[in-house]
Amino acid sequence: MNYTLYGILVFILGLIMGSFSACMGYRIPNKISTYKERSFCPKCKKQLKWYMNIPVVSYIFLKGRCAYCKEKISLIYPIIELTSAFLYLLAFEMYINTNNINVYSFLVVIMLSTTFLITVVSDFLYYYISDRVVLISLIVIILLKYFFFGFEVTLNSIISGVSIFALMIFIKFCGDKIFKKESLGGGDIKLMGLIGATIGFVPSLICLFISSIIGLIFSLFAHSDDKSHIIPFGPFLLISAILCFYFSYYIEYFMETILRISL
Ligand SMILES: [Zn+2]
Repeated sequence: MNYTLYGILVFILGLIMGSFSACMGYRIPNKISTYKERSFCPKCKKQLKWYMNIPVVSYIFLKGRCAYCKEKISLIYPIIELTSAFLYLLAFEMYINTNNINVYSFLVVIMLSTTFLITVVSDFLYYYISDRVVLISLIVIILLKYFFFGFEVTLNSIISGVSIFALMIFIKFCGDKIFKKESLGGGDIKLMGLIGATIGFVPSLICLFISSIIGLIFSLFAHSDDKSHIIPFGPFLLISAILCFYFSYYIEYFMETILRISL
């Protein structure tokens, strides 16, 4: 198998899905139909031709401006497209290196990546996490579990998801009482349910810890002048989940090696 060729195809798929994610992240919070309308410029509302819609390439050719009204196109689009391509390559790397559960890992990482990038756009720009997106991801993940590992593992992951979901509601309840304001968004709680079902109960707690640290560092740099102190937490949860999922295989392998040496 020629990995380079497949790698390039995965990269292109990542770019296309990145473009899709940015589009969904913009359309869902703004209540624009996600399938009926073709892509258009948000300023002059003119429909884009297909060659104005090629991920990254069009942005460079159009010099970052709309072909009709010359309005600046947000740099978010090429960044999301490239990030998506990078995460898809990461998934592909897992596919090559993990020989026991390879196709499963690949599909989970690309699923989480696309959910992550839609959430980055919708949560950062509009403070909105789509129930529909979380639900679709959850269904896909549960179907993947069932298809690859059977009923028992699927049931376990559903229990993990529900447990984390319940725990988060409890944390929110306590947080609201202590801080006398909304401590956790409903979208974040639902995302944690998805993450619990995907990576399991204990890894989800580690993921929660890591995302809090990333969120804290981010808030120190980005929102120092913002008095409202609303920091979108969903994207940090999802990127931590991807990292946990990605590294758990290697950590497991590492631990096994250590155990083997020490015994
Ligand atoms: Zn325009």
